[in-house]
Amino acid sequence: MPSSKKYTKEQIREYNRKYRQEHLESEKQKQREYYRANREERLKKTAEWKRKVRKQIEEKLGIICVVCKQEKPVQYHNTKFISHENKSPTFILKHIEDFVPMCNVCHRALHHFKTYEKEFAKYLYVGVAK
Ligand SMILES: [Zn+2]
Ligand SMILES: [Zn+2]
Repeated sequence: MPSSKKYTKEQIREYNRKYRQEHLESEKQKQREYYRANREERLKKTAEWKRKVRKQIEEKLGIICVVCKQEKPVQYHNTKFISHENKSPTFILKHIEDFVPMCNVCHRALHHFKTYEKEFAKYLYVGVAK
C-alpha cells in the first residue's frame, strides 16, 4: 500500500482483506496446479510400472492362450480357483506359477462354466506345467 496517502482504518482493513484473499487464491491455485502436474506424473509412472510388470509376466508365461493355443491378447487366469478379477500385475508376478495365459473368449467361457472349472482343469492344463 502506498504510504504517501492517509487511509482510514476501514480502508486498511479492506485492503488487507483483499490482499489476503487474492494471495490465498493464488496459493490455492498453485497447489492445484502442483497437484495436477504431480497427478499426471504419478499416473504416468503407474502406467509405466504396470507395463513393465506385465512384460515380465508375458516373458514368464507367454502370450498364447493355453486353451485354444492361439496368439491373441491374453489375460492371466488363476488355476488355483482364486478370484483374480482385480488382481494387480504384482500379485500375478508373485504367484506366477498359479497363472496361465488365456484369451478373452476362452477365459470368459471358463468362468461362465465356473462350476465345471475343476473338472475342465484336468484337461485344460494338459501339457502346461502346473
Ligand atoms: Zn483361447
Ligand atoms: Zn480366470
